[in-house]
Amino acid sequence: AKEMGRNNYKIYNSTMDEEIRKKIKIEGEIRKALKDREFFLHYQPKVNVRTGKITGLEALVRWNHPKLGLIYPNYFIPIAEETGLIKEIDEHVLELACLQIRKWIDMDLEPISIAVNISAESFNESKFMDKLEFILMNTAIDPSFINIEITETAAMENIEYAHNIMEELKKKKISLSMDDFGKGYSSLSYLKIFPIDVLKIDKLFVDGIGVDKRDESLIKAVVTMAKELGIKIVSEGVETVEQLEFLNKIGCHEYQGYLFSKPVTIEEIEHMMCESGDF
Ligand code: C2E
Ligand code: CA
Ligand code: CA
Ligand code: CA
Repeated sequence: AKEMGRNNYKIYNSTMDEEIRKKIKIEGEIRKALKDREFFLHYQPKVNVRTGKITGLEALVRWNHPKLGLIYPNYFIPIAEETGLIKEIDEHVLELACLQIRKWIDMDLEPISIAVNISAESFNESKFMDKLEFILMNTAIDPSFINIEITETAAMENIEYAHNIMEELKKKKISLSMDDFGKGYSSLSYLKIFPIDVLKIDKLFVDGIGVDKRDESLIKAVVTMAKELGIKIVSEGVETVEQLEFLNKIGCHEYQGYLFSKPVTIEEIEHMMCESGDF
């Protein structure tokens, strides 16, 4: 600390080194975690705004770290994206989701559709469709139980390429969600360019309900336009009854959020489904 003033450069450098060392360490740990199957899924229900019924699930990856315990994606997804390991994580998550659907079919239960997050890097990888087809073939599930959530970044990297992949997904009856809508440079015109089935309004806007009239107007405008285009609207991060009532009033179709449930284990989901008589 004594040297701070006169040796700023060195200090900056050594924290950089530390950052890099930490990243390399996590990268190695992610590789090992993939090999040792330490990743697993939590699921968050998507709920019909009017009926309160569960309409689908979103798979959210978790890491059961041998020393640190349960780790959330914010800790490792950014590093996985930087290192390219995200492609393997996303593939693994896709497989886990399809295996879950297979399990329900084998148990004679009507499967619930599962949405899987696919990072830009995974989506734009040339092997993406092959990997997906391989998983679908091995699990022998109806692809219409799978929904793919991508962000606008994934779609905008190469518009024509993204468009082709989306059309291929459509052919397979896999539905598509545009995630985190409104967070980046989203433009409503994307909805015209791409064959999107679902638009997920980012929590940032939902947080503004009852607080900021501009957020409310924006959500209203998006809902109105999406309806014209036949796109379903899902609002993320709904935490209060007030938010839910607003969304109901303006005609938003579905929501996710702590108000209904946090992401939970599959056992808890199955319990909820049984209780509500949906299983
Ligand atoms: P996301 O796709 O936008 O997922 C929503 C995040 O918001 C989840 O965080 C969820 O737990 C959280 N959330 C849901 N409802 C509420 C609420 O009412 N209040 C608050 N405060 N938060 C809520 P989580 O599970 O930590 O995931 C964070 C992000 O990590 C996800 O954001 C997604 O971008 C990424 N992610 C998660 N799983 C995967 C995956 O398998 N592959 C890829 N590529 N990314 C993933
Ligand atoms: Ca998502
Ligand atoms: Ca989201
Ligand atoms: Ca989000």
